[in-house]
Amino acid sequence: MIRLAWPDLGPEELAAVEAVFASGQLTMGPRVQEFEAELARACQVEHAVVVSSGTAALHLSVLALGIGPGDEVIVPAYTFPATANVVALAGAKPVLVDVDPETMNVTPQAVGAGLSERTKAVLVVHLFGRPASWDELRLVVPEDVALLEDAAGALGARSKGRPCGGLGRLGCLSFHPRKIVTTGEGGAVTTDDAEIADAIRRFRHHGIEPRGDFEIRSPGLNYRLPDILCAIGTTQTRRLEHLLEERERLAAGYAERLGDGVGLPSADEGDRHGLQAYVVRTDRRDAALDALAKAGIQAQIGTYALHRLAAYADQGPFPGADAAFERALALPFHNRLSDDDLDRVAEALTSL
Ligand SMILES: *Cc1c(COP(=O)(O)O)cnc(C)c1O
Repeated sequence: MIRLAWPDLGPEELAAVEAVFASGQLTMGPRVQEFEAELARACQVEHAVVVSSGTAALHLSVLALGIGPGDEVIVPAYTFPATANVVALAGAKPVLVDVDPETMNVTPQAVGAGLSERTKAVLVVHLFGRPASWDELRLVVPEDVALLEDAAGALGARSKGRPCGGLGRLGCLSFHPRKIVTTGEGGAVTTDDAEIADAIRRFRHHGIEPRGDFEIRSPGLNYRLPDILCAIGTTQTRRLEHLLEERERLAAGYAERLGDGVGLPSADEGDRHGLQAYVVRTDRRDAALDALAKAGIQAQIGTYALHRLAAYADQGPFPGADAAFERALALPFHNRLSDDDLDRVAEALTSL
C-alpha cells in the first residue's frame, strides 16, 4: 500500500527526545522557549507561543482578541472546520465567504462583501500551503479589523518573500503529522504584538500571569505543549528548508507525470507554495478515489465545504467552495515515495 502521509522523523528527532528524558523536565522546561525562538525566526516575528494543537492556537487567538457574542469573524467556506469551529465556540458568528475554485483560497472581493459593522477579524487560510493573496486582502480589510492567518499548513510558505505566519496581526500554525513540521500534535501562535503574546501565554496556562504575581484575572485553559514535543519541533524547524525542498522535488515528480490531466497546485507570481499537501483538481474526483483505492494507494478529499456540514448549513450558496470540494483530491505526499510509487499513482489516475 502507498500511504498518504509519512512524517519525516529520524535520528536527530530521536536524539532530541532522549535529551529531554535525560533532563527529567517534561513540561514548561527550556525546550519550550527553544522551539518558540526557532518558530519566531522562521516566521520573522517577535513572539511565537506554542500550544497543544493548531486548533488550540486558533481558539486562543480568538479569545485573546476578545472576540465573543455579537461579533463576526470572516472565514473561508472551504477550509478545515477548526477555522470556523473556534469562532462559533467563542460565541461569535463565523461568516463564511466563498473561495476561488482554482486557488482554493478566499478572494479579496468575497472578503470585502462579507464585511459588516460587526466584523472583528478576518481569518485568512493559506490552504494546503498556498499563500493567500495577502497584499490585495490588506487593501480591502479596514485598519480596525484584525487580519489573521490560519497558517496551519503554511510554515515555510512565502508571500512575496515574506514568511506566512508573519503576515497578519497574528498567525496560527499546526504541527499535526500531515503538516510540514510535525510534533505529533501541536501548534503555535505567532505575532509581533507583545500584548497578544502575553494573553496567549495566560490562556495557555490557566490564566496565570506569565511574569507572575500568582494572580488570575480571567480564566484560562491548559493548552501547553510538552517538552518532548517541543524538542522534536525544534529539530524539525531547523530542518525546514530541507523538508520544503523534498516536497518541491516530489511535486516536480508529480507535475512531470500528471501533465495537463488534472489541475496542479500553483502559487501566485513571486510566492513560494508551502506544499503542506499535494492537492490536485479533477472533475472525476470520486472515480479517482475509487481507482486509487483499488490500486492500493491511499488518497483523500482535499478538505471540507463548511456550508455542506450540518453545523454551518444556514449559510450559502458558495459555488466556488462547492467546486473546490467536489474536485479536490489529496495524493500521497511524503519523501518515502519512490519514482515507481509516483508512476503507480499517475497510472491509476490516467487509467480513469
Ligand atoms: C490542520 C489544520 C487545522 C487544525 O490543526 P490541528 O493541529 O489539527 O488542530 C486548522 N486549520 C487548517 C487550515 C489546517 O490545515
